[in-house]
Amino acid sequence: MINSFTPPDRRIAIVTGAARGIGAAIAGRLAEDGHDLAIVDLDADACADTVATVEATGRRAIAVAADVADEAAVIAAVDEIATRLGPPTVLVNNAGILRDRTLGKMTLDDWQSVIDVNLRSVFLLCRAVLPHMRAARWGRIVNLSSIAALGALGEANYAAAKAGVQGLTKTLAIELGRYGITANAVAPGFVVTDMTRAVAERMGMPFDDMVAEMAKTIHVGRPGQPDDVAHAVSFFADPRSSFVTGQVLYVAGAPKV
Ligand code: NAP
Repeated sequence: MINSFTPPDRRIAIVTGAARGIGAAIAGRLAEDGHDLAIVDLDADACADTVATVEATGRRAIAVAADVADEAAVIAAVDEIATRLGPPTVLVNNAGILRDRTLGKMTLDDWQSVIDVNLRSVFLLCRAVLPHMRAARWGRIVNLSSIAALGALGEANYAAAKAGVQGLTKTLAIELGRYGITANAVAPGFVVTDMTRAVAERMGMPFDDMVAEMAKTIHVGRPGQPDDVAHAVSFFADPRSSFVTGQVLYVAGAPKV
C-alpha cells in the first residue's frame, strides 16, 4: 500500500503557552508560514501581543484561555478553536513550567504539577485534536522537550516529563503515520526567555552573568533565542516534512544525544 496525503487548503495551528517566550515566537513563525493560529494560554488577555503579531502577517488569530493540564478545559478549547477558526491540523505543545528542587526537597506537588503541565497536557491535547487530524487525513504534531530529558540537576520532575514527551512523541509517530500525521519533538538547550530569567533570579544571579556562564558551555558561543526554536518547529510543521516523524531535534548550539 502506498499512502499519499495532501494538506488542507487552510492550515490551522494551535500553539500552547504562546502568550510569550518560545511559544509566541513559534506562533509568529507559523503565521509567516501561512497558518491561522489559535493562541492557547492560561490568560487570554496575556495573548494580545501574540495575536497582534500573527494578524500583522495577514493571518487570522484567536486567543483561547485554558489550563493545558485540565482535561475538560482542553476539550472545550479544541472545540472552541474548531468552531471559531476551523479544524486544527497543526498542534504545537509548548506550554511548560519549572518547579526545580533537588530530590530530598522536592514535594509531591512540585513533582505532579510539572508532570501535569509538561507531559499530561501533551497527551490531552493530542487526543483532543486527533479526530480533526484524522478527518483531514493530515496532521503535524510538534512537542517541546528539552535537553533536561538527558538529566538535569534539581529537575527530576522536569527531566522525567521532558523524557516522557520524547517517548510519547515516538509512539504517536508509530500510531498515527498511517493517517498522514507526523509527530516530532524539539528539545531546546538554554534559551533566553522569562523561564530562564526566573531561574537566574531564584539562584540570586544577574541574568547577564548566567547567560555569559552558559555561553561558555555552548559550542556556538551564544544562548538560544526563541526564534531558533521556532525555526525547528517550522521545519517539522511544513507539509514537505512528511517523511520525517518520531524524531527529536536538539536545538542547543551543541551536540546532544
Ligand atoms: P515561559 O517563558 O515560561 O512561557 C511559558 C508559557 O506557558 C507562559 O505564557 C505560561 O503562562 C504558559 N503556561 C504555563 N502553564 C500553563 C498551563 N497550565 N496552561 C497553559 N499555559 C501555560 O517558557 P519558555 O521558556 O518560552 O518555554 C516554552 C517551552 O520550551 C516549555 O515547554 C519549556 O519547558 C521548553 N524549554 C524551554 C527552554 C528555555 O531555556 N527557555 C529550554 C528547553 C525547553 P503564564 O505566564 O500565565 O504562566
